[in-house]
Amino acid sequence: MADPDRLLLGIDIGGTKAVVALARATGEILAESRLDDWSSGSWERDIEKLEAHARVLLRGVGVDPAELYALGLSAPGPLNPVTGTIMEAPNLPGWKDVPLVERFFAAFGVQALLENDANAAALAEWRYGAGQGTRNMVYLTMSTGVGAGLILDGRLYRGARFEAGEVGHMPIVRGGRACACGLYGCLEAYTGGNALAEHIREDARAGAAKAILALADGDIAKITTKHWVEAIRAGDAYACLLRDEFLDVLAQALAILILGLNPESIVLGTIIQANPDLFLDMLRERVSERIWPSLRDVRIDPSELGERLPAYAALSVASLEPTDFGS
Ligand SMILES: [Zn+2]
Repeated sequence: MADPDRLLLGIDIGGTKAVVALARATGEILAESRLDDWSSGSWERDIEKLEAHARVLLRGVGVDPAELYALGLSAPGPLNPVTGTIMEAPNLPGWKDVPLVERFFAAFGVQALLENDANAAALAEWRYGAGQGTRNMVYLTMSTGVGAGLILDGRLYRGARFEAGEVGHMPIVRGGRACACGLYGCLEAYTGGNALAEHIREDARAGAAKAILALADGDIAKITTKHWVEAIRAGDAYACLLRDEFLDVLAQALAILILGLNPESIVLGTIIQANPDLFLDMLRERVSERIWPSLRDVRIDPSELGERLPAYAALSVASLEPTDFGS
C-alpha cells in the first residue's frame, strides 16, 4: 500500500488546455489550475511554460519540488511510455520527438512518468471514478477522435507497440465511410466529433439537417456536435436518425469489445457522459441485443470524473510504479 502522504504532481497536456494538479496518493487534490490557449508552436517554449506554471502552483501551497514523490504526465500520442518520448502530437504544433520525461526529470528532480491521454483517462476512471473495484474495464472517449484505454487483469494494457486501445479505427462498417486515418468504415468515422460534424455539414450542403443548421445560425462551417445534441433534445427527425446510426455503430463496436475482452465495466466519456439521458439506455439495449445473455451483466456507465478527469488522469500516471513501464 502506497504511503497516503506521498505528494504527486500531475500535468495533463492537451491541444487547447493544460491542467496541473497536486494531490496526495489518496487522490485528495490539494491544488489545481489550468492553462488555456497555451501552445506556442515550439515544444521547448511550451515545456518551459508548463514548468513555470507547475512551480507557481507548488509555491502557492508551500510545497518544495523536492517534497514530490512523483510527477505524472498525460499527453496525446503517439508516444513511447518506456522512453518517455512523444513521437508526434497532431494537436500540438511543433511537438515532434519530444523527450518529455527527461525534461521534467531534469527540471524537478523527481521520478517522471508519461502515458497517453486515453490510457491515463482509463487509469483515472479505474482508480477514482466509474471503474473503481473492477479488474477489467474499458474506457472509451468520443471527443474529436475516438480512443480507448484498457484495464485488463488489474493493470493497464498497452500492447506490443503501445497502440492497444486504438478502437476508434476498428473497421466496423464494411465498405463504409472514409476515416481521417486513411482506412474505411472505422468506428471514429461514425462516432468521432470531427467526423460527425463534417458528415452533418455535408448533409447541410445537400439541403438536409435544417434544424441543426438553424441552431448554428445558418452557417454550415459553424456546425458542431453540440448543435446535433441540441437538435436531438428538440426531437428533430434528422438528428434522431443520425443518433440511431451513431448508436448502432457504437453498439457494434462495444459488442466486439465485450465478446473479445469480457470486461466488467465499460466507461464512456464526452458526448455520452454529458448527455446520458439522450444516449445511455438506447445504447445499453442495442449492446444487449448483440451479445450473449451470459455477458449482459457488463456495466455500461458514463464517466464519473467529468471535468476533473484531466487532473485525475495525470495524477493516475504519477501513481504508477516504474515497474508498470517494464523497467
Ligand atoms: Zn480510422
